[in-house]
Amino acid sequence: MSYKHSIFLLILFSNFNLHGQAPDFEARTFYPYSVEHAQCLSVEKRNEIKTTLRENIESLKKSGHISAAQHRSIVSLEWPLRLAEGFTDIGFHGISAFVDHNSNFPASLEDYNCGTRTFDSSSGFNHSGTDIFLWPFGWSMMEEGRVDVVSAADGIVIGKLDGNYDGNCSGQDTTSWNAIYIRHDDGSVAWYGHLKTNSLTTAPIGGVIQQGEYLGKVGSSGASSGPHLHFEVYEDEVLMNLIDPFAGNCNNLNTISSWADQKPYYDSGINRISTHHALPFFPSCPMPEIKNEENNFCDGDQVFFLVFLRDLLFGQTIYHQLIKPDGTTFTNWETTYQAGDHLAASWYFEYAVIPEDADIGPWKYRVDFLGTTAFHTFNVCAPVDIDEPIDPEPVHIFPNPTSDFINIEFPDFVPENTQLLIYGVDGKMERNQILDANQSLLNVNLTSLSSGIYMISIVENGQIKATKRIIKI
Ligand SMILES: [Zn+2]
Repeated sequence: MSYKHSIFLLILFSNFNLHGQAPDFEARTFYPYSVEHAQCLSVEKRNEIKTTLRENIESLKKSGHISAAQHRSIVSLEWPLRLAEGFTDIGFHGISAFVDHNSNFPASLEDYNCGTRTFDSSSGFNHSGTDIFLWPFGWSMMEEGRVDVVSAADGIVIGKLDGNYDGNCSGQDTTSWNAIYIRHDDGSVAWYGHLKTNSLTTAPIGGVIQQGEYLGKVGSSGASSGPHLHFEVYEDEVLMNLIDPFAGNCNNLNTISSWADQKPYYDSGINRISTHHALPFFPSCPMPEIKNEENNFCDGDQVFFLVFLRDLLFGQTIYHQLIKPDGTTFTNWETTYQAGDHLAASWYFEYAVIPEDADIGPWKYRVDFLGTTAFHTFNVCAPVDIDEPIDPEPVHIFPNPTSDFINIEFPDFVPENTQLLIYGVDGKMERNQILDANQSLLNVNLTSLSSGIYMISIVENGQIKATKRIIKI
């Protein structure tokens, strides 16, 4: 083991308290992300919807848009979510609730697999669909329109509603959800609820929909505390016989799976790996998450390596590896979850400080979990010789980190012929301007720069007077 290697390892596994920005917990633990259950739909609203859909079906039959149902076995369902074009996330969702097969309430729960991954309420509500939530950073994903809701099977639009607010956050459906309802060729009907405001397909009621066709974006409209799809299926147009598309020993509604390819009860996997300059923050509904993601680091910077998982189970092990720019392994470690039975959504982090002599260039963080490999590339920049002010009377550059501007404070007036230089971590010059003389405090606008790490230098008559590394967030 080289000296460099040992320094990095020492820091990698050292205690948080040494680094000032100590979160109130230790690294190398899995943190649950709790997905709150909202009621999704009240009994009253569900009945209203059924009445409307029945009327729509009747008139669509009269107008010839809907023909007689064919035999049920012809329709099998594909997964109703997919990543929008241009996104390549390894995973993006988890399941927070299945159909509740125990008709008693409250707290009388049984899902299709005889577990309790469902919910009910004292008001007589039993969850009657599958809740599929976005993870991680669901609110950001929703804003970006990252996840499409697609039709699980061919069919006809028999109802749709749009324009309702995504930030209700209440467990009560004081506002309606945005939804689309599709009647399949065998007469079965699928409900897609909580869709994002104004994201629904332009296909009209009576319009033909193909399996896999875009229906809308995952949102959080109606009784919802976070972006998720509520997917509910009925056996026929009467809308009395609920189906749980998942077949299992405690499914007392139907025996055959509706899925073309039923996912396992615990669909454990990696959803995302990433590097951050600080830990992410998950504010309460409906505020978007603060990701604090960063891919460029210089010596002395802190790096947080994060892994976001779905359906983590007791005893499962995650394998981590840091790969140097030359392709060789710098270090590797593994972590095993032993704190409980199951986490539907969780994240794990490791922490390090980039040492002065770290290899410069693109590093890779690799994670292996249950046969899936994920890579994330981050860049370690060249060390800068002059990191401290040379002048005995320092020039102050603040705040750091900053967002839209930076202040430069001189001990006296700005001398004539003083330049401000700003470089990116790739060494590219982003700014070269002469500073206003006869002032002592300058406010420099940085809005044209994208987020990242920059070197700021103050140069007087060709001599560097101050250099500072700043983070623009
Ligand atoms: Zn639901």
